[in-house]
Formats: sequence, structure tokens, C-alpha cells
Amino acid sequence: QHDTKAIQALDSAHYIHPFTDHGDLATRGSRVITQAQGIYIWDSEGNKILDAMSGLWCVNAGYGRKELAEAAYQQLMTLPYYNSFFQTTNVPAVQLAAKLAALAPEVRGRKFEHVFFSSSGSESNDTNVRLVRRYWDLMGQPQRKTIIGRHNAYHGSTMAGASLGGMSGMHAQGDLPIPGIVHIEQPYFFENGRPGESEAEFGLRAARALEEKILEIGADKVAAFIAEPVQGAGGVIIPPATYWPEIQRIVDQYGILLISDEVICAFGRLGHWFAYEKFGYRPDLVTFAKGVTSGYIPLGGVMVGDRIAKVLIDKGGEFNHGYTYSGHPVACAVGLANLELMEREDLPRKVREELAPYLAKRFAEIGEHPLVGLAETCGFVAGLVLVKDKASKAMYDPELAVGMMCRAHCFRNGLIMRAVGDRMIIAPPLVMTREQIDEMVALIRRCLDDTLSELRE
Ligand code: PLP
Repeated sequence: QHDTKAIQALDSAHYIHPFTDHGDLATRGSRVITQAQGIYIWDSEGNKILDAMSGLWCVNAGYGRKELAEAAYQQLMTLPYYNSFFQTTNVPAVQLAAKLAALAPEVRGRKFEHVFFSSSGSESNDTNVRLVRRYWDLMGQPQRKTIIGRHNAYHGSTMAGASLGGMSGMHAQGDLPIPGIVHIEQPYFFENGRPGESEAEFGLRAARALEEKILEIGADKVAAFIAEPVQGAGGVIIPPATYWPEIQRIVDQYGILLISDEVICAFGRLGHWFAYEKFGYRPDLVTFAKGVTSGYIPLGGVMVGDRIAKVLIDKGGEFNHGYTYSGHPVACAVGLANLELMEREDLPRKVREELAPYLAKRFAEIGEHPLVGLAETCGFVAGLVLVKDKASKAMYDPELAVGMMCRAHCFRNGLIMRAVGDRMIIAPPLVMTREQIDEMVALIRRCLDDTLSELRE
């Protein structure tokens, strides 16, 4: 048993939380999460909460998977640590790299035979910045330095990660972006579509913003374009079907590298091992983290496509880059056990063929709610836009913070759902049953009803 008050006091006295207003935290106190099993977490007061966010989009295989703990324990007892810097290696890192290479589908003749490991998505995107610049140096085009990202994207919290991302609140702190990183608009039809423009037309226009930016900078100066297949932290922004094929045309035409940041979208989240397969595009680098270990232990990395790997390995010499925990044997052992578990339970296919279609059906029903202006899903992520007027899709005054109001009702009703402005988003564990999806949908409805009641008070 935990003494909640004592933990909360120590928490506000000593612990700086990520992305948290500490003034607010001190007055309200944090909720102390103490246990988890399946799709549920429990707080120190014994409340059971359905975790529709899989932690931070990472607990793909659900909580309480003993074999992942067992894999960590066995590896900790055999070889808890060794690095791969000086012509040494370790078995789990090698096996996991080979496993990832085998799972990454070939697209139009391009393969992913190589993997670089880090401990997080942020570190992996920092690696990407150095990798693409190194590649262009080796190609004799060192002036190709600029990387283009998108507004409202999230690529991590390190200097390079936060710069690649397009969160204005992050850029405002710490003089970001760093030089050589620029942004284009996100493909968010609900917000940015023009009157009379179809979603398909909008998708093309949003993609062509990349071409305009390339021409503005000069194609010979652009190194790469980075994007999430579906923007996650930005609010589950699902691109129109026309978007990715047009992006592919543009990067091909100008010869620039394509980085697919799949920290959220890989490992079954969109119903495939890797999300580029769903949308049919051909990246040169794929960032991964989170779901690779179902969040049980920190691990991230970059799948390096053969276009870059060939140059880097054949004529690269030493790449002066690496982390103490690159290829950490315990993290890699857990990653391997997690991927084997997901393979055995056939989770990507299960999401694609069973869970995602059912979630889409249930979300279409939620779309009928008077507070909901848009309800959409893609694989096993979903978003709802809370609106003041269903017909005109007019939004509430941002001062009202309706998203946060709804989030508070979720908390009270035993549901974790995230608010991004007035967009409510979920990314549940991939091990849900239909009954659990029904339970989640019923909770979402109750939270929407409660929010509406509060707004009408
Ligand atoms: N890239 C994407 C798309 C993410 O969603 C995240 C985290 O949410 C990151 C990168 C950063 O990963 P990490 O928090 O492991 O550094």
C-alpha cells in the first residue's frame, strides 16, 4: 500500500515532470500510478483506469506480459551491459537488428538491411540529422544540409528533435529550430481545407507545399524531408489518400531523402509492422522507438535503407556518432521478445483485419454525438474534434479549454484519453478484445455527455 499524500508531497518537492506546469501540479497533486495489467492501470487509491493511450503510445502488447520481464531478467543475469563501439558486439543487438531487417518490407526494390540503435525516438532523430548530412558529404554534395519538417509535427525533445518538430510552444523555448531546419504546413483537412476544396485536392495541395519549399530553398541545398505517417502528438492528423503518393513523387523528382518517423506508427499501430507499407511510400530512413519494446524498456533506433547504408558502409570510414546504450543487450533482448510475442499473436494483422475496422465502426457512431464535429480513425489510433456547432463545425473559444475539460471528465470516469487543443485522441493497446473496445467507447460517450453537461451549466 502507498501513502498517496506522502508520495505527492515528495513528487512536487523533488521531481520535475516532462511537459508539465508545476504550479498547477502543486495545487492539484499528481495521480500516482502504481500497477498495470492488460489494458488497465491502477492508481494508489485503488482506482482502475482504462488506458486508451497505451501509456505514451507505446504499450502495444499491453501491460503485464511476463515473458518480457523474463527476457530482461535472463539478459541482466548473463550480460547486463556491453557496448559495440570497438569491434565488439552482443547477441541480442545482432539478433534484433536481423529481426527488424526481416520484418521491414521491401518497397519497390529498396530494402532495409541495417539498423542503428539508440534509447529513444528523440535520439534516433538526432542520429537522422547527422546521418543525412554525412550521406550528402560522402556523395560530394555537402551543401545539401536543409531538412524540411512540418508544423505541428513531433519528433522529440532534444535540440534536433524539437527543431525537426513543428511545435511552436517548443520552438519558443531555447531558440529553436537550430539552423538548417524549416517547416511546411501539416496535411490537416479539417482545419486547413479551403471552402469547396475536396479532401483529395487538399492532399495534393498540402504535399505540393513541399515542392514549393524545395524550389524556394534550391533543390541542391535540401538534404531530406521528415514526417510522421500519421501525425501523433499533433492530434492524430490523418493525411488524405492523395498526400503520400504526391510526397513520393516530389522527393523522387528532386532526389531528396525521405525520413519516415514511425516512433508511434510502427509495430502494428496502423496494422503493419511498419507504416510506410500501409501508405505505400519508400523512405530512406525509418525512426522507431516506443512499440519496439512495447515501452517495457527504453529502446529506439533507425532503419537505414540500402541507398544510405551502401554509401555509409562502403565509403564512409568512421561515422563519429553513437550512444553508450546503443544496442543495449537488455533493451534488445526485451525488444526481441516483444516482437516475437507480437508475431506469435499476429498483432499487426489482427489490428488490420479485426480491431481497426471495428474501432472505425464504433467511432463513426461516436461521430453522431452532438459535441463531435469529426471522428476519424486510422489503424488503432483515433481522434475526435469537439465542436460548438455540429452543422457549421464552429469550435469553442480556446479560452474555455474544452479539450482539457473533457480530459478531466475522462480521468474521473476511469479513462485515459489525451487532449490536443479540442481534439481528443486515443491509441489503445493492440491486445484489446471487442468487448473492451465497447467498454472504451461507452466510457468515451459518458465523458462526452459529462463535458456537454458542464458546458450547458
Ligand atoms: N517521434 C515521434 C513521432 C514521437 O511521437 C515521439 C514521442 O512521442 C518521438 C519522436 C520522441 O520519442 P522519445 O520520447 O522516445 O524521445
